[in-house]
Amino acid sequence: MKERIEIIEGDITKQQVDAIVNAANQSLLGGGGVDGAIHRAAGPELLEECRKIGGCPTGEARVTKGYKLPAKWVIHTVGPIWRGGNNNEDQLLASCYQNSLKAAVEIGAKTVAFPSISTGAYGFPLERATKIALTETKKFLEKDQSIEKVVFVCFGTQAFDTYNKIFDQVFSS
Ligand code: ADP
Repeated sequence: MKERIEIIEGDITKQQVDAIVNAANQSLLGGGGVDGAIHRAAGPELLEECRKIGGCPTGEARVTKGYKLPAKWVIHTVGPIWRGGNNNEDQLLASCYQNSLKAAVEIGAKTVAFPSISTGAYGFPLERATKIALTETKKFLEKDQSIEKVVFVCFGTQAFDTYNKIFDQVFSS
């Protein structure tokens, strides 16, 4: 099972996978960070399709095509904004991973790449978010056989080191 999870350092827009996950905002109309990078790489048709969807609540996920991206699909999920940790942030972030993976199964994606949802502009502490990302993915893959690989794309060495450290913790217990 742990062979189905890969941690790399890189740019999610370059990943040759069936689906990439976007850390979007509720409007789905683009923004900064990874969201902006995905929209730039996919081209204007992505925004057009997102506009038709009309938004997405925090913790849920919506699927679009990938347009000019190497990935066929984009799964847009909306992470929680960190407000100190007592405002359901953990559960909402867990829902992002659960619902994104569920969406990936529904569209038949065998390979899926995730960014570190909520840990940029939304301020979620990186270690805490990483633990949720890896724990929820492990739980999901234990029950699902259709997804062959989940790639965590770390933007920078700090995220890469954190993911590797937490991976060892999550898979040693
Ligand atoms: P959020 O609003 O959910 O916090 P951000 O886009 O601000 O979303 O940040 C989420 C994570 O995505 C951060 O860890 C950031 O470093 C990372 N990131 C930014 N650009 C890219 C990219 N091109 N590929 C992968 N990860 C990225």
